[in-house]
Amino acid sequence: MRPKTIHDISFDDLAAWLTEQGQPRFRAEQIWQWLWIKGATSFEDMTNVSKSLRSALSQVFPIALPTVAEVHTSADGTRKFLLNLHDGHVLETVLIPGGEHFTQCLSTQVGCNLGCTFCSTGQMGLTRNLSAAEIAGQVIVARNHLWQTGTGMRLRNLVFMGMGEPLLNWENVDNALDRLIHASAMNFSPRRVTVSTVGVPGTLDALGHSHKASLAVSLHAPNQELREKIMPRAARMLPLPDLLARLRSYPMAPRQRVTIEYVLLGGVNDSLDQARQLVRCLNGIRCKVNLIAFNPCPGLPYSAPETEQVLAFETLLRDKGLTATLRKSKGQDISAACGQLKTRRTAGANNCGPTVTNT
Ligand code: SF4
Repeated sequence: MRPKTIHDISFDDLAAWLTEQGQPRFRAEQIWQWLWIKGATSFEDMTNVSKSLRSALSQVFPIALPTVAEVHTSADGTRKFLLNLHDGHVLETVLIPGGEHFTQCLSTQVGCNLGCTFCSTGQMGLTRNLSAAEIAGQVIVARNHLWQTGTGMRLRNLVFMGMGEPLLNWENVDNALDRLIHASAMNFSPRRVTVSTVGVPGTLDALGHSHKASLAVSLHAPNQELREKIMPRAARMLPLPDLLARLRSYPMAPRQRVTIEYVLLGGVNDSLDQARQLVRCLNGIRCKVNLIAFNPCPGLPYSAPETEQVLAFETLLRDKGLTATLRKSKGQDISAACGQLKTRRTAGANNCGPTVTNT
């Protein structure tokens, strides 16, 4: 088994190891700050740590953060990163501009085995889970990029909406969340971190009880039959009635709401009758709805919805009292949707999933 990297170990484990080496406790705090606050990518960066200790650290705990292979910048400011992993695999992460800040879209797996029919990543199959260090490391890499390029814009929001199903890699996602929200590490507010899932029994409740992030649910269909066609494995793993029941009792702070994601696929799930079904589904769930118009392209069997249909769908939800927002597509010129760039690079294809949206 590969030794744990320095970004995979907890503060307490690091402190315990340093104590065994005869080091004072403040040394652990120094090193932790280098790793999580100053974004060190090498032990050589840790200039206030002795050379001998840096050398001892590097022999026991390798550093294996993702490294930047490619950065693509869209005309609208969206930046998509292809990152290399230590074993030669590649992952994607995207920075989406919004006002004075960026939102980062994070991947949690290389590929995905759920095979949702509108999603490029779903067509790849699953290669492997990402470690906690590889998940949180995406944020270190993107933040360092923003510091180095001097945009003056802050990374404020994190969304787990990239490649993979986060709740099928919950242990590592949970550990990454610890680093991302902890005050002595990256210090993101849990209110500004969102985990998006199709709904996975067991770990959905674990996310809720962790209070480490908000919840977004990829629903995309207002009944089980259609959901089984659009996202067959997800729909069978947790049938829609059970998913909705879990959302009705999902633990949330008083003003918190679940985000319901609904990709409008032309002629498939965008009728007014289906909008009415969706309203009925969401009865009793504290939620807001994000509508996303599908972006068609070769390789996926769907077309874009008509603009009038999208607006009518949105209007119906609002007339029935739901908060519904039509999300603007960003980064279309750089294939910013989950899985697109990697698919293009590895297969020479140009498959498209739902385009990354600003949150
Ligand atoms: S939409 Fe999410 S869960 Fe479905 S195949 Fe794509 S990455 Fe996997």
